[in-house]
Amino acid sequence: MDFIPVNEPLLNGNEKKYLCECIDTGWISSEGPFVKEFEQKMSVSVDRKYGIAVSNGTAALEVAVQALGIGKGDEVIMPAFTIISCAMAVTKVGAVPVLVDSDLYTWNMNVDEIESKITLRTKAIMLVHLYGLPAEADGILALAEKYNLKVIEDAAEMHGQTYNGKPCGSFGDISTFSFYPNKHITTGEGGMLVTDDEELAERCRMLRNLCFRKDVRYVHDEISDNYRFTNLQAAVGLAQLERLEEFVKRKRAMGKYYTEHLKGIEGLLLPIEKTDYADNIYWVYGIVLDENIQTDNRRVQNLLAKEGIGSRTFFWCMHEQPVYRNSGVFSGQRYPNAEYLARKGFYIPSGLSLTEGQMEKVTAGVKKVVAELKNESR
Ligand SMILES: *Cc1c(COP(=O)(O)O)cnc(C)c1O
Repeated sequence: MDFIPVNEPLLNGNEKKYLCECIDTGWISSEGPFVKEFEQKMSVSVDRKYGIAVSNGTAALEVAVQALGIGKGDEVIMPAFTIISCAMAVTKVGAVPVLVDSDLYTWNMNVDEIESKITLRTKAIMLVHLYGLPAEADGILALAEKYNLKVIEDAAEMHGQTYNGKPCGSFGDISTFSFYPNKHITTGEGGMLVTDDEELAERCRMLRNLCFRKDVRYVHDEISDNYRFTNLQAAVGLAQLERLEEFVKRKRAMGKYYTEHLKGIEGLLLPIEKTDYADNIYWVYGIVLDENIQTDNRRVQNLLAKEGIGSRTFFWCMHEQPVYRNSGVFSGQRYPNAEYLARKGFYIPSGLSLTEGQMEKVTAGVKKVVAELKNESR
């Protein structure tokens, strides 16, 4: 049986040509010329002055947290429902993630709940955009201004998206991207920080590269990791970036197809097509089971696999992560909407290589599985 993978990237532009250039010229490390070119083009594409490419999106968040001087005992507000990278970047430096519940329909952090979480120790807010619709940046930026907090925008899933007409990746003190193969543009593994603050950019460059001292090499005043990004990755990234607009169109067409073919099925909450401030770009096409279906997303994933369809469950909440639970970090905390999404949400094949024939098979499979599940829920 032909299995439809949950994600397959599209690499049929100039990727091969630029990669061959790396091999032909011998420039394969982080010193190669494509790295700077990619940093420059990415930062310009989101109206930022500086771009700092790093090894992945998680590394970008880690560097952002460290560059802003967040450390032991500081608090950083973020969604309870997000990828572990957000919390990890904060706990790694001894700071504390302070969680906020989700909006059940946009799947982003509920901005109305943020102010009550601000304390004297709050240092920053992580503005994380999830699944295709931006979080409500204005509300978050206003709070940051009022309480003098830093803002880290995690735009890993938002290549080519805008919020009220302004590019995602242009909000707050510093923004981060990922180029993992399921993002709108990929470099295999990769990430980037973008900012308008020259000093902050310089600090990120230091942190990316073991904190080498500028005047004397191999002498270090502080320590950081090696988060460098290679010329080979940048070669792929440049070719991908050339096609970003087309990729966003493809993703929107995919979203439109799935919604047209799945709407009206009792038991499913489909992604919102648009809000006042943005049209969905469908990082992936997520679906949430409603109360008519009494099972969880893991079972749906298994049933879809039997139909030859790849899928993934949504993120697992930060306060329910065994690693944090065991150390008592979020002891006794509950976030009902985040918990619901983590148990009931899943996404179906959404890669840029997806064909209409595959989408047809996916929607038929989803319908079949939902019908089975509804029968047993009666
Ligand atoms: C993918 C992703 C990351 C992490 O990126 P990696 O490149 O996989 O490390 C961070 N934040 C969000 C919201 C993501 O979707």
